[in-house]
Amino acid sequence: MTIPDLDLSIVIPVYNERDNLVPLEEKLETELAKLNLSYEIVLIDDGSVDGSHHIINSLKKNNPRLKLIRFGHNHGQSAAFAAGFKAARGKIFVTLDADMQNNPADIPLLLEEMKNFDVVCGWRFKRNDPWIKRVSSKIGNGVRNRLSQEEIADTGCSLKAFRRECFDNVKLFKGMHRFFPTLMKMEGFRVTQVKVSHHARLHGVSKYNIRNRLFSSLHDLMAIRWMKKRHINYDIIQED
Ligand code: UDP
Ligand code: MG
Repeated sequence: MTIPDLDLSIVIPVYNERDNLVPLEEKLETELAKLNLSYEIVLIDDGSVDGSHHIINSLKKNNPRLKLIRFGHNHGQSAAFAAGFKAARGKIFVTLDADMQNNPADIPLLLEEMKNFDVVCGWRFKRNDPWIKRVSSKIGNGVRNRLSQEEIADTGCSLKAFRRECFDNVKLFKGMHRFFPTLMKMEGFRVTQVKVSHHARLHGVSKYNIRNRLFSSLHDLMAIRWMKKRHINYDIIQED
C-alpha cells in the first residue's frame, strides 16, 4: 500500500499527447508553486505511440516531482486512473486531462471546496469543443443524470479533486471514470461541483467520438443503475 506522505497528487492520463506535455508541465508547475503544498505529478502514459514517453522522460530529468507510469498498450482512461491512484502519494488526488483543455489555474478553486467536501467536480460551463461534441455531451449528461438519478452537470470533465480515501473501497472497471461522483456518493462521500474554465485543444486530437463513446457509455450506465439499486445498506442497532 502506498503511504500518503504528500499533500497532493496530480493524476493525468496521457494517450498520444506529445505536443501538449511541455506546456502542461510548465503551467502545472507555475500554478502548483503558488500553493505552498507538497505535491507530485503522476503521468500515466496509456500506450502512446507518438513518443510521449520520450518527452516525459526528458522532463523528469529536471523535475523530481514528475512520476511516469507507462502502459505497454492502450488500456483506456479508467485503467490509467486506477494505476495512477494506486501509485499516488497525495492525501488529495486532483485529476485532469493532458491536452491543456483543463486549466491548472483552476486547481485552487477545487481545493477551496475540498475544505467542506470529499469530491469536487469541475463543470465546464463554457465548453470550447466542436458543436457536435457539445451537443452530444449535453444529451449524454442529461440521459446519464436521469437514468442514474444524479445531478452532476458535467461528469465528463476530468478536472476533479478527491480525498484519497474515496477510492479505498471502490473497484474500478473500464468506463467507470465517467461515474466517479456517483460511485463516491454511494460510498457516502460528500460531492459538489464548481465552474471551471475550458479551452480548445491546440495540439493532438480527441480520443473519443460519438461512436466509441455512446454505446459503451450506455452499457456502463446500466451497470451503474444496477449498482445503485443493489447497493448494500444496513443499520445495526446492536452488536455485542
Ligand atoms: N486518454 C487516455 N487513454 C485513452 C483515451 C484518452 O489516457 O484511451 C487521455 C487523453 O490523452 C486525455 C484524456 O484522457 O488526456 C481525455 O481524452 P480526450 O481529451 O481525447 O477526451 P475529450 O476531452 O475529447 O473528451
Ligand atoms: Mg480533451
